[in-house]
Amino acid sequence: MVHKRAEDISELFQRELGMPPTDDPEEMCAAARKQLRGEFLSAEMGISGCNFAIAETGTICIITNEGNGRMATSMPRTYVAVMGIEKVVPRVEDALLLWQAVTRSGTGQEVTVYFSMSSGPRRPGHPDGPEEMHVVLVDSGRSRIIERGYADALMCLRCGACLNFCPVYREIGGHSYGDTAYSGPIGAVVTPLLSDDPTAVKELPFASSLCGICRDVCPVKIDLPRLLLDLRHDLTQLGASPRYERTAIRAYTKAAEKPTRYTRIAKLVNWLSRLLPRSAEGDLTRLPPPLNAWTKARVFPRPASRSFRTLWNTTARDGSKGSHDG
Ligand code: SF4
Repeated sequence: MVHKRAEDISELFQRELGMPPTDDPEEMCAAARKQLRGEFLSAEMGISGCNFAIAETGTICIITNEGNGRMATSMPRTYVAVMGIEKVVPRVEDALLLWQAVTRSGTGQEVTVYFSMSSGPRRPGHPDGPEEMHVVLVDSGRSRIIERGYADALMCLRCGACLNFCPVYREIGGHSYGDTAYSGPIGAVVTPLLSDDPTAVKELPFASSLCGICRDVCPVKIDLPRLLLDLRHDLTQLGASPRYERTAIRAYTKAAEKPTRYTRIAKLVNWLSRLLPRSAEGDLTRLPPPLNAWTKARVFPRPASRSFRTLWNTTARDGSKGSHDG
């Protein structure tokens, strides 16, 4: 998601770097490079994440398209790599295979522009590289994920393909997933699992249509819909659903048991929705509590003029008439 316009960046550079006004992206890019090069050269410490850590060689790998990662790992006096414990792969070939998978699924490239490998500090005779290198292995709830039976979620390569294809993520955007590093379908699984209090983010596994496109596009075939369903079950067992939600679902079940009852109630709800305030386009701008949390930040799409059942019946009737006519 792009948050800044060229004008915003230009204003920032004028304020922070004393750069003359411009809307030329290449000029701004060159100014950023010049400034950052100086910062990298004078930095005492560079810190990076890690895409893969190769067990057989003790190598930290990071992949980028910009080259900034390589500068952070090689120019400062001390280099610190911070990595989740799930990033370890056995051999060099495994890292190379996953490199291709993450790039093709993430950006559609064959491979990223840079693949930086750090296997330790500078050795005697080396012209450059850090004098010290440290690796910080982070568990931070990952062992708990394995214990709870969700180890598959830790196979994630962070390629972002499931986000790009998810119809829910495309509508609600990354900010809806809170301050977690993971968003989209994989975020809906991992965020509650990493949280000390999963019930605090209980909505995430339920914010999915379970269409399954996330599983289809995932290069490591994580069965995200299955994990989401398992999480829903676990959260319900923990009593995460509020009473009004349980009551609403019971009421819906009662209504859906009989088609005539369901049709009547649907008609009544549709009619009542006409009494609610609307935008010029007909979308609902204010829903009654407890549904008003949605309309505090967004409009609610206007209800369809004809229900799915009406459309289905009409299509079936016209279709059968058409086949007889033919
Ligand atoms: S779950 Fe799969 S598709 Fe989604 S980011 Fe991870 S590796 Fe990519």
